Parts: sequence; C-alpha cells; structure tokens
Amino acid sequence: MDSLAAVDWTAYETQATAAIGAALADSELEDARVHWLGRKSELALALRGVRDKESGMLLNGIRGRLEEAVQHREQELRRLAYQHAAERGVDVTIPGTPVKRGRLHLLTQIRREIEDIFLGLGYEVWDGAEVSTVWENFDALNTDAGHPSRSTLDTFYLDDDTILRTQTSPDQIRAMMTRKPPIYMVSPGRVYRRDTPDATHSPTFQQVECLAVDRGITLADLRGTVLQYFRLLFGPEREVRMRTSYFPFTEPSVEFDVTCFLCDGAGCAVCKHSGWIEMGGAGWVDPDVFRNVDLDPEEWQGFAFGFGIERIAMLRHGLPDLRAFWENDIRVLEQF
Ligand SMILES: [Zn+2]
Repeated sequence: MDSLAAVDWTAYETQATAAIGAALADSELEDARVHWLGRKSELALALRGVRDKESGMLLNGIRGRLEEAVQHREQELRRLAYQHAAERGVDVTIPGTPVKRGRLHLLTQIRREIEDIFLGLGYEVWDGAEVSTVWENFDALNTDAGHPSRSTLDTFYLDDDTILRTQTSPDQIRAMMTRKPPIYMVSPGRVYRRDTPDATHSPTFQQVECLAVDRGITLADLRGTVLQYFRLLFGPEREVRMRTSYFPFTEPSVEFDVTCFLCDGAGCAVCKHSGWIEMGGAGWVDPDVFRNVDLDPEEWQGFAFGFGIERIAMLRHGLPDLRAFWENDIRVLEQF
C-alpha cells in the first residue's frame, strides 16, 4: 500500500512516544492518544489496509508499544497528582475513615429476644424499678430478718429502707400489689450486689423475672413454660430437667437445667461434660408471699422463675469473662 510505504514508521513511533510522555494532564494524554492511536490516526488507517504479514507485525508492534506508553503515562500522571496533593498537605492515598455503624449491645439484643418470646407466650413485659424498698426486696419475699444477703456488705443501701434491688423478684411483689390476677408478667432488668468485679462476678448484672398467677395453675404449667422458653431460645431439641432447691419465696423450689445446646447432651467443656447447663431457679409461689400482698392462696396459685441474661450471652457466644460486657471495647462489641 502507498500509505504504508509513504510513512516513516520509526519516526512515527518516536514522535508519538514523545507526545504521550509529554502530556501533563489527562486531557492532553487523551488528545495524544486520539492523534497517534485513534480510529482516524495514520496508524489505524494503515492497519486497516494491511495485506501482508510483515507489515501487520510491524504496525501491530507499534500500536502495542504506544498503548503501553499511554497506560504508563496515565499512571504517572495519577502519581504526580497524589504527589502535588500531598505537597499541599492532603495525602489522598490515605484511605478514608470508615463510618462505624452503631448496633445494639449484645445484652440488649438478647434481652429483646427474651421479651419477644414471652410476649409470644402471652406475657406482659414490665420495666421494673432498680430502686426498691427493703420490704419489697426482702421482707415480702420471705427473706429472714437475719439473712446475710441483707447485710451492707452484700447490698447497696440508699437509706435504712431503700436499696438498689439485689434481684428482679421485687417486681413480683409490685405486680401483685398493683393489679388483680390473673397476672402473666416478665420483668428484665439490672440488679445490684456488692461484689468485686472479676471474670464471673460483677456489682451489676441483668436478670429476668417471670411470674404467673392464676386459678388452677399446676407445676406442669411451670415446666411447660420453662421448656417452651428454652426451646425458643436455644432450639427445638432442648430438654429441661428440674432439681429441688430452696428459695425463700417459692415452695417447692427447683433449679432447672437445659440440655447443652453446644454438644446436644454428648458432653463438652461448656456443660462440664454433663450434657446439662444450669440456667436458673424457679418455684411455686409461697402461700406466705400471697398473704404478704393480700392475695388468698386458697384462690390463687402461681409460679415464678428467674435467670441471668449475661449467662445466656456467655454460653451462647463462648465469652469467658463477664467484664467484657461493661468495658465497651469496640473490638468485642462489634462482633455481635
Ligand atoms: Zn455440652
């Protein structure tokens, strides 16, 4: 072809390479690319007219090298732009600060999950008071006058008659004093005990109190409710067992265990190879407690149970230290 023969392709490549390398801005680089490599460039026109292998290899070689030169210059221009920005005091190569999304604390998540379960079972969710009278927290719940839990070494006293509640159970008393049965209530919240913080102790932690008062309730209702609750919380295969225990405000009293949800009862470190995990206490509302709130124990029966929220969170997520819940370490919190 005449056009192929008429062009000094060595000079073309040299001029094109120089023009590309001299571009000082993206727009100049684009102009050079269009001029030397674009569809209407001499190179493109010549390539379209190529008839022999040798010319094709020559021109394609030039095109390949010029395209590389464009890419190379593009990167250089970007680097220069960063450098100029850095000289002006802005380092645009530093990644931006990611915006951290807020989320509910793990304990709040579990507490809400528990509330939803009980709402589904027809219970009312109470928001109990953290400040309680000594009578509500101890006397009305049949705690002996000399019981060590009343001591100022164990309980935070605001004055002689007022304390930070040591358990959520005073909410049972308030519920029975402020409304007529039937009562189906659940009350989650913080409780306070004088304790030195360590991996398994804290001066404040969260409990959930559950109370049902009605006519004709039986121990089977208690068992069924506890079982249903733990199956909703830990999975439909869970079983519950009860062991006799003692609490001043229930008679009889039991402690309940649930089959380990990590090993399905086969035995693991969490359940101490027993297949069972201790979850809380429960019992039949003591007739004296009914009398303390002016309910007739001949007419009304009821059960109560309670458990800790932190324990559920620790078991479910394998957290070894209670303090992790209060330290607000973002590395811990953002995992949930
Ligand atoms: Zn286990």
